[in-house]
Amino acid sequence: MAHILIMGAGLGGVVMAYEMKDLLGRDDKLTVVTKDPIYHFVPSNPWVAVKWRTKESVQIDLAPVFAKRGIDYKPVPVTKVEPGENSVELADGTVIGYDFLIIATGPELAFDEIPGLGPDGYTQSICHVDHATHASDVFEEFCKKPGPIVTGAVQGASCFGPAYEFTFILETELRRRKIRDQVPMTFITSEPYIGHLGLDGVGDTKGLLEGEMRQHHIKFVANSRVARVEPGKIITEEIAEDGSVKKTHELPFGYSMLIPAFRGIKPLMGIEGLVNPRGFVLIDKHQRNPKYKNVFSVGVCVAIPPMGPTPVACGVPKTGFMIESMVTATAHNIRQLLDGKEPTHQATWNAVCLADFGDSGVAFVAQPQLPPRNVNWSSSGVWVHNAKIAFEKYFIRKMSRGESEPFYEKAMLDILGIGKLKKTTETV
Ligand SMILES: Cc1cc2nc3c(=O)[nH]c(=O)nc-3n(C[C@H](O)[C@H](O)[C@H](O)COP(=O)(O)OP(=O)(O)OC[C@H]3O[C@@H](n4cnc5c(N)ncnc54)[C@H](O)[C@@H]3O)c2cc1C
Repeated sequence: MAHILIMGAGLGGVVMAYEMKDLLGRDDKLTVVTKDPIYHFVPSNPWVAVKWRTKESVQIDLAPVFAKRGIDYKPVPVTKVEPGENSVELADGTVIGYDFLIIATGPELAFDEIPGLGPDGYTQSICHVDHATHASDVFEEFCKKPGPIVTGAVQGASCFGPAYEFTFILETELRRRKIRDQVPMTFITSEPYIGHLGLDGVGDTKGLLEGEMRQHHIKFVANSRVARVEPGKIITEEIAEDGSVKKTHELPFGYSMLIPAFRGIKPLMGIEGLVNPRGFVLIDKHQRNPKYKNVFSVGVCVAIPPMGPTPVACGVPKTGFMIESMVTATAHNIRQLLDGKEPTHQATWNAVCLADFGDSGVAFVAQPQLPPRNVNWSSSGVWVHNAKIAFEKYFIRKMSRGESEPFYEKAMLDILGIGKLKKTTETV
């Protein structure tokens, strides 16, 4: 009998629990511990932030679903991780031992790295559903007295897609309210160019996203390094190739949403051999920590080096499908270890994304995630907006039924040639 413990019940942790459960024996035990007891579909947050969705409409109460699937569930945050002792400590003082630990704790949002950034400062956030709900109330007030809007992603950010999405969603909402003409909009980003996305672009995302910016009259500043945010004013430096400050912009705003940099959660910070200096979990090609070999990790909390040097620090995004591929590899690798074999499964880390713009959108597929790629495709149109709504409904439904990948989903992905596991000589 083995005990597998999953830390975190966000996108990675929940899918992990379902896939792991499917591969465990009757006597094995699976426990999930997490901070937020209710699951929220994070990709809906940009819609929550303009009241196109309520918090309740994108949430799942995990307790009954896990109970039905025979998964132990403790919605109490971890305060200490002791990989040398094979145990974690929870906020209520409970100590839980494990045979295998899977870390899926997502990001801590590093607002404190820039003075005035974030919901405790002067800008809004859509990274957590509660931030998005607050942002929606602030937006309502803003609409009564419109002014300039500044959106984007700061230095060290890795999650650029939602910054673009939210910008265009805001733009659509302002047009619907017939106040767009009173709102100058500026997008600032640490990316070296619009559409880089932390991936050096996918297909023609550079052309597509720059074109959308121009068509919607949104000014932009790439290579932006935010110095500080003051009430109603963002001071950001545009950085040149050689690292010097090309221009300092002082951007007034009545409303602003900036995606922060991410780092690992506090209980992981500083554990030698487990995490890098920013608290992201170190993993090998099998999602396994090289020092603590019974520890695996999936999702935003894993350490992935940036694509290459850029004038302003800019991370690689960890997107939903990529995270699901990490999950599938991890579940199969732990199964192999339980069977006394060495792990052989590697995630494809393919990026498949739908970025909604409110009445259209941009989609891309990057296989593999880093160039040069076998598939490097992007496209735009109203179909993306409709596909994203359909995907939201589908994903929330399958999560609330306790399923990870129904057979028809797998069949469809196989037909499209978008796999979750790499075909390697180890696995054939
Ligand atoms: C606004 C936004 C929109 C996005 N949209 C898309 C999209 O459209 N498509 C796409 O592919 N990707 C998207 N992403 C990227 C990615 O899919 C999501 O960030 C996804 O939620 C990441 O999953 P995760 O499991 O790694 O982290 P999370 O979903 O953040 O989950 C982390 C979990 O860890 C728990 N936790 C935290 N601290 C502790 C602790 N101390 N102890 C125990 N548990 C803890 C939390 O409660 C949470 O349950 C988006 C990201 C953001 C921020």
